[in-house]
Amino acid sequence: MKTVSDLFVLRDEQGPILYAPLNVAAARVNESGLAAVAKYLRGETLSPDESDVIGMLAQYKLFEPGVIPVNPERFMPVHVTLFPTDGCNLRCRYCYAGAEKIRHKMSVAAGRAAIDLVAENAREVGRDNFLVGFHGNGEPFCAYDRIREFCEYTQFRAEITGIRGNINTATNGVLNDEQIDFCLAFFSNINVSFDGLPELQNRQRPFPDGSGSFDAVDHTLKRFDEGGLSFGIRATLTTDSVDALEDVAMFISERYPHCSQLHLEPAWECGRCLTTGEHTPDVDVFIRKYLSAQDKLEGKYLKLVYSGARQDLIINSFCSVCRGSFTVTSEGYVTACYEVCEKSDPRSERYFYGSFDENAGCYVFDQQKMDALGRLNVENMDNCRDCFCRWHCAGDCSAKLLGMKEPEEHEGSARCLINRALTLRQLQKRMREREE
Ligand code: SF4
Ligand code: SF4
Ligand code: SF4
Repeated sequence: MKTVSDLFVLRDEQGPILYAPLNVAAARVNESGLAAVAKYLRGETLSPDESDVIGMLAQYKLFEPGVIPVNPERFMPVHVTLFPTDGCNLRCRYCYAGAEKIRHKMSVAAGRAAIDLVAENAREVGRDNFLVGFHGNGEPFCAYDRIREFCEYTQFRAEITGIRGNINTATNGVLNDEQIDFCLAFFSNINVSFDGLPELQNRQRPFPDGSGSFDAVDHTLKRFDEGGLSFGIRATLTTDSVDALEDVAMFISERYPHCSQLHLEPAWECGRCLTTGEHTPDVDVFIRKYLSAQDKLEGKYLKLVYSGARQDLIINSFCSVCRGSFTVTSEGYVTACYEVCEKSDPRSERYFYGSFDENAGCYVFDQQKMDALGRLNVENMDNCRDCFCRWHCAGDCSAKLLGMKEPEEHEGSARCLINRALTLRQLQKRMREREE
């Protein structure tokens, strides 16, 4: 038997494709070529024709051992995500966090100490930048005083260390003009959650009084667009909105011409979905509509993104959950997962791996918990072993698919069909481009 990197056989309308993701190698073959490859891998004697086929395929590096991604040995984060608050000024019908009024705001000391830590790590490892992001189980700008504080402090740290401090945020886009001006001045990138068409945004992402939020977010997006900010939009699709996916994409492309990416995700049935009755769209419809929207956007500035399809990435976990994601909740807990942000969530037992010690003024990390998080790695997910997306999707979202289960118990989900279909499309495009 030959020792080669993961080698997968895929099929599309043109026939078989050999794919070795770890070697970034792919080639189309016919059925007799496939048979020759099977013989070669079993170490059997090849005919001259079969040897020629293998020689030709070897030029693509299909048969070489690939480099398996590994986690860093030391925990030295240079990127922190801060959750300034858990309150929100919208009541989205599918909100995973069920966010409402502000219950907690991050302490100034916790935010500053996290920024100190990533800036110091960046200096120690010789990087020319560190990154501070805002996200949350609420709207970060509902704690605007904290955002200002942490952005100014990031600038201060950048000045005294001589290392660039990049700042980005996710927001629902309900911002006043002062906040928009602040974004234009401080942020290098912003992601706005927005469902696109007025009727969808107003229905799915209403204010607490039930009124629609389209006009408010549209104003923000137009100002970002005119202000030269690098920004993207994230839209969530439900059974009620998936049919409009292409219209959403075209609307955004035309109305906000400088928006670089539209991130589309099917709603996951959790949080407020459970009481509002919003449902995950049918996977086949999502795939069909997504691919058709992608075709319509060909040649335009706006690019579609879906989290489970990233054929250009070679990784061992879907997000940085197993690689030391440094995220601080509004209560000062360190979590590896954006969606596990409350102590009352049973999954916090796994995903919380530290906290801010207000008395000592520093973060305390639990090494055992960090080691256990390191196991949420696709190499431990038997279910993913034969999937060609193994090193791209890398087991998908562990908080949703595993929760507290062991990685060996991974069973996949309906999303696997989307992940494979959209990743295959990316691979086909790369192969076409190579041939041109
Ligand atoms: S999805 Fe985001 S914007 Fe909507 S209610 Fe939840 S936290 Fe607020
Ligand atoms: S585990 Fe899932 S929900 Fe948590 S940060 Fe990763 S992708 Fe997001
Ligand atoms: S089996 Fe599913 S979760 Fe696992 S890598 Fe493949 S697409 Fe991702």
